[in-house]
Amino acid sequence: MSDARIRIAIVGLGKIARDQHVPALLANEAFDLVATVSLDGAAMEGVAAYRTLEELLATGLPVDAVALCTPPQIRPVLAGEALRHGLHVLLEKPPAATLSQAAQLEVLASASGKTVFAAWHSRFAAGVEPARAWLASRKVLRAAIRWREDVRVWHPGQDWIWEPGGMGVFDPGINALSIITRILPEPLFLRDSELELPSNREAPIAARLTLRTGGGAPVDVDFDFRQTGAQTWDIEVETDDGVLLLRRGGAELILPSGTTRGDDREYPALYTRFAGLVRAGKSELDSDPLRLVADAFLRGRWKITDPFHD
Ligand code: NAP
Repeated sequence: MSDARIRIAIVGLGKIARDQHVPALLANEAFDLVATVSLDGAAMEGVAAYRTLEELLATGLPVDAVALCTPPQIRPVLAGEALRHGLHVLLEKPPAATLSQAAQLEVLASASGKTVFAAWHSRFAAGVEPARAWLASRKVLRAAIRWREDVRVWHPGQDWIWEPGGMGVFDPGINALSIITRILPEPLFLRDSELELPSNREAPIAARLTLRTGGGAPVDVDFDFRQTGAQTWDIEVETDDGVLLLRRGGAELILPSGTTRGDDREYPALYTRFAGLVRAGKSELDSDPLRLVADAFLRGRWKITDPFHD
């Protein structure tokens, strides 16, 4: 593809699209935001707006790419539709609600020759790549993930998160898994999981996972949607050469040599990567974080807990 600006449409103009995608796109000279699509009729001043992707595609408006920011259950269907129309596709996380859909997206991507980018935004937090570099030459002894947030603050009224395929607490938890699968020098395997299911919902509100690295180091995971007050998005890795701590979702990195704090640059960096992939004619569709979630559901011991009301 030439260096012409990539004409992009956002599909699903909800919380994350407004908070992050729109500002990142408007600030990035590689893109022109030419349309939005949202079932709820949401729109932006001065940007063409449609209710469905089908409606947008039928207009013949020139579009090169879509950013799929809907809930995950419908995302693979929309991705297939966009690819069949010759568009590049950025997938918010998680890229699909099932592993078989993620595999199908890989097939469609290579058949279409278009870029498909599974945008694990947390991997673009400032501390993640330095953490990966630091860990590359060290032996991991154990690790712990604590990802505990208040669902009423971050997902108010989002019924889809409690429905099948919405993943419940794994919706934020998969961000932690996207970081740990990126920074550890070895693959991870799930040993055990325990999931707490509110008696009136269809997705877990809390989960504890026991993972192991290929070398046998334990990785304990604690996800909880019921945390009020201070929020916790921490990953600690103990090595043969000291402890690494990633805090604030990966924005802050604490090493034995000192602390570095980064700005909130995840989405600007993510769109720079997407533009680079489009220009290079490549795709990036890593399903490792989704695989661990699927394993947790497959292997999980389920415990029914108190009902949850928004
Ligand atoms: P949201 O606020 O519920 O927004 C989703 C939007 O997509 C809604 O406007 C919804 O309209 C629309 N939509 C649903 N189906 C559609 C379709 N077929 N075509 C067009 N629009 C459709 O959800 P969100 O918080 O932005 O989350 C969306 C995705 O981003 C999730 O996968 C989530 O994991 C990810 N994410 C969220 C956050 C966050 O902090 N919230 C952070 C990072 C990533 P209706 O309401 O009418 O269905």
